[in-house]
Amino acid sequence: MEKHNFNAGPCILPKPAIEATINAIRNFDNTGIGILEISHRTPGWEKVMAETEQLWRDLLNIPQEYAVLFLGGGASTQFYTLAANLLNKKAAYLETGVWAKKAIKEAKLYGEVAVVASSADKNFSYVPKGYTIPTDADYFHITTNNTIYGTEIKTDIDCPINLVADMSSDIFSRPVDVKKYAMIYGGAQKNVGPAGVTFVIVRKDLLGKADRKLPSMVDYRSHIGEEAKDNSMYNTPPVISIFVMYETLKWLKSLGGVAEMSKINNKKAELLYNEIDRNKMFMGTAVKEDRSIMNICFVMADQYKEKEADFMNFAKSKGIVGIKGHRSVGGFRASCYNACPTESVQALVDCMKEFESIN
Ligand SMILES: *Cc1c(COP(=O)(O)O)cnc(C)c1O
Repeated sequence: MEKHNFNAGPCILPKPAIEATINAIRNFDNTGIGILEISHRTPGWEKVMAETEQLWRDLLNIPQEYAVLFLGGGASTQFYTLAANLLNKKAAYLETGVWAKKAIKEAKLYGEVAVVASSADKNFSYVPKGYTIPTDADYFHITTNNTIYGTEIKTDIDCPINLVADMSSDIFSRPVDVKKYAMIYGGAQKNVGPAGVTFVIVRKDLLGKADRKLPSMVDYRSHIGEEAKDNSMYNTPPVISIFVMYETLKWLKSLGGVAEMSKINNKKAELLYNEIDRNKMFMGTAVKEDRSIMNICFVMADQYKEKEADFMNFAKSKGIVGIKGHRSVGGFRASCYNACPTESVQALVDCMKEFESIN
């Protein structure tokens, strides 16, 4: 049976990217050697690195004054790395979920952290508004999409100081005005590739200002390398993960890029949210205006609570996988990332309708 994959991350990837990767594992770039078995200093690989960076720059309109880095360690490593590089005295954070809390915890190792607002009072079911960003902070950190709770900051906010964003789970889902940010980062495994590679887009003039010694691997400048050589490999990069990302971005470009993808994503989300709102057996968990386009969280309506396991099994029988909600929200979460086809969302909607009709 065809599977409809709604996993939250790692998650569904475009089929052409998987196919191209399988071929490259057998024979990379007509070398007769697989991509897992070549040096990262071979010209064929250096070309993939350069083209991957160029795809990022083209698809997101990233200006030259920003470095684009592909590192290991996941977004969690960036929680302390970004603070080590950018936090001198004080940083401001918006607390919108578990990932934001983890970022805050790590930043505290390097200085004062002001949590300007939090939605912890209502289990992170909304995005705080009307807060004041302290202008004496080195930066303001936000999590644009809260993967676990299904809330999202869907526009590029105006910020009087350097804006730093964890975009792990909504990067490439919509056009982004990169110039409004000092830094954008995230793990690739939600919307742009497999686990193992982390992206960092950082304005170069911000680096080297923190008043502390940094280990080379932590200092972003080590990874920028000599610009003339356009070679950002300080150490061995996660080759296979970057290759899947490269193929994923080629796929995205062939579909028309982020503007086109945003239209498709909005349609998919509308389809599912409409059914959640219409169907008497289900209800959404996030405040409507802050609903995520990527991670759609819902639970059984109060009078149908005991049907939760039944619905899970019913969905499973239809080939629907990965919709179990995170333990801190419960219920269901359908992650509708770029590679998740509209047909899968339709299959979930049909499944919800059918479940209602037989109950
Ligand atoms: C998954 C996720 C993370 C953690 O990423 P790792 O690469 O596993 O460290 C951080 N932030 C957000 C928003 C996420 O969705």
